[in-house]
Amino acid sequence: MATKYSLLKSLTAEQLREIAKMLAEQLPLSMDEISDLVERFKADKLLGKIRDAREHFLAGRVEIEHFSREMILAKVAGYTVSIENLGTADFAYRCDEKCRDWLYQVSKGRYPFCKHYAAVIAQLVYGGLVESSPSAINHFSEPLLSELSGLVETRKREEGAIAPITGRGVETTLACLKDDFLCVSCQNSGVARAKYRSTPDRVFEILVEQAFQLLEFDTIPRTGQHGWDLLILGTLASPPYIAVAEIKTAAGGVY
Ligand SMILES: [Zn+2]
Repeated sequence: MATKYSLLKSLTAEQLREIAKMLAEQLPLSMDEISDLVERFKADKLLGKIRDAREHFLAGRVEIEHFSREMILAKVAGYTVSIENLGTADFAYRCDEKCRDWLYQVSKGRYPFCKHYAAVIAQLVYGGLVESSPSAINHFSEPLLSELSGLVETRKREEGAIAPITGRGVETTLACLKDDFLCVSCQNSGVARAKYRSTPDRVFEILVEQAFQLLEFDTIPRTGQHGWDLLILGTLASPPYIAVAEIKTAAGGVY
């Protein structure tokens, strides 16, 4: 037997819009209530885009190729994304011509961004290039910003840039180094897991970086899976210098 829903569902989008017009006149809902409802539907759709960006972002498949206030160029899993004037009224973005979502939905104004845009934004916030606020990022307000922050936090946790040894000042860092440096260097995975929630190799890299920071060196940790582990910048020396470090624990090292 036909239900009200199955009957309505048989209509085309065009015809449903006609019904929406009728409903708008007769629904016992205030302007605010209808506006809330519409916003909620739109936010749900965009939250889905941020979730779809997750896999690319967490796997490190987003590369920022150029960053300036006027123009950002990025690659997301082989798709080119360009963003102009981020955080301003002159904002515009384009996704790759391969992106069907951009081609058929976003460029037609059905919704404001595809998952590739969300992935680039996550990368920019993660890298500290853009502040996580509605005024800095077009089309991101709550609850999208919370979803975005959750994603960025997940990445940081996975990469071992984790709470116990960041941001608590010199004393905590010194205590960690004193207590754990030697045992982590000998592959003590119990301590690495329990205190730092990561592998001994990764924790050792972080401890070495912090040791250099305590000695007033600037450091740049690796961002990719391959290549050097740490760049150490002797900016206070004259002349200044840069050293490249390959960090290995006592057990894992082959050098
Ligand atoms: Zn796209």
